[in-house]
Amino acid sequence: MQTYDITTIDGDGIGPEVCQATVAVLREACGSRLRFQAHAGGASHYARTGAVLPEDTYAACRQSHAILHGAAGLPGITYADGTEVGNDLHLQLRFRLDLFANVRPVKLYRGVQSPLRDWQPGQIDYVIVRENTEGLYASRGAGVNLRGELATDTLVVTRKGVERVARFAFELARQRNGAPRDGRRRVTCCDKANILRSYAFFRAVFDEVGAGFADVERDHAYADAITVHMLKKPDFYDVIVAENMFGDIISDLGAGTVGGLGIAASAELGEHHGLFQGAHGSAPDIAGQNLASPVATILSGALMLRWLGGRHADAELLSAATRVEQAVQAVLAAGETVPHDLGGTATCTAMTAAICRQLG
Ligand code: ATP
Repeated sequence: MQTYDITTIDGDGIGPEVCQATVAVLREACGSRLRFQAHAGGASHYARTGAVLPEDTYAACRQSHAILHGAAGLPGITYADGTEVGNDLHLQLRFRLDLFANVRPVKLYRGVQSPLRDWQPGQIDYVIVRENTEGLYASRGAGVNLRGELATDTLVVTRKGVERVARFAFELARQRNGAPRDGRRRVTCCDKANILRSYAFFRAVFDEVGAGFADVERDHAYADAITVHMLKKPDFYDVIVAENMFGDIISDLGAGTVGGLGIAASAELGEHHGLFQGAHGSAPDIAGQNLASPVATILSGALMLRWLGGRHADAELLSAATRVEQAVQAVLAAGETVPHDLGGTATCTAMTAAICRQLG
């Protein structure tokens, strides 16, 4: 029976709480088939040692089957240029492990009230695929600050980068059941092709790739307009693909429409590696108080099981992925154990215990 090595990095703020919660749930779901090995990293580790991603942690990430991360970053811990140290942990992993597709499901679960009036579970169910290694964030650490008078960053779009993330999005649409509104498989390209050449190029390459997927509808939306569409017709969307920064922004908006950051899962995938963490940051305002919702990280753990199960043709892991997601759904739908961010009083440990009980 194959076992899988999972490198965990707790990180900062609520990171340790939500990461350990997820380890407990995954152990309950998979028993000894997952072997967890904890490694250091993050902003507080940087403050102590000068390394946000120690080389032994990176080596473990590279060698293991998957990486599970809590969250990293603390407001006061910044580089000399003013940027936050903590983000560098997952940015380095993204770039060094070439995790080009950041998958962020936006799904309204039973028991969760959307701030959008009248939308019911089943009517909001789409996935944002954020290009994760190029775009505006490719410039991180390489922009120019001239004499403290002028600062520039460059938006990078390559043919290979768009081709692979667009292909990923179309292939993902093929595995789904289409948009809730009409059941049509659809990939929407989110850009500003009307203003910038880089985005016009992004769209042109997206269209070239999409031409090879005749069974999936091609759709386009400007990044500003899509923020309105996501509020007014969320049921129209199936898969949305976007440049790095736009994807970052619209996935927080999408999360807001289905309950907030505490429920928003994320998977960062490349050809050979996968990093799984909630879409939220380290939320230092609620850290160490047992107030964080572990749901986003636990659902990211379910994405990890599905990804591993698919890669290794492991039916048991695929079924464990479904069981974890169903356990989360059942707890939310029952409405007895509700996390603070969704208006309840359940602690991080109480949510975790309820999900484990549901699995047991
Ligand atoms: P980053 O830029 O690193 O993604 P951020 O600055 O966007 O981080 P977060 O750390 O994601 O901010 O937190 C924003 C707010 O959302 C927090 O103040 C917290 O109240 C809430 N929040 C985030 N994650 C959770 C969670 N898992 N459970 C409950 N509340 C959360």
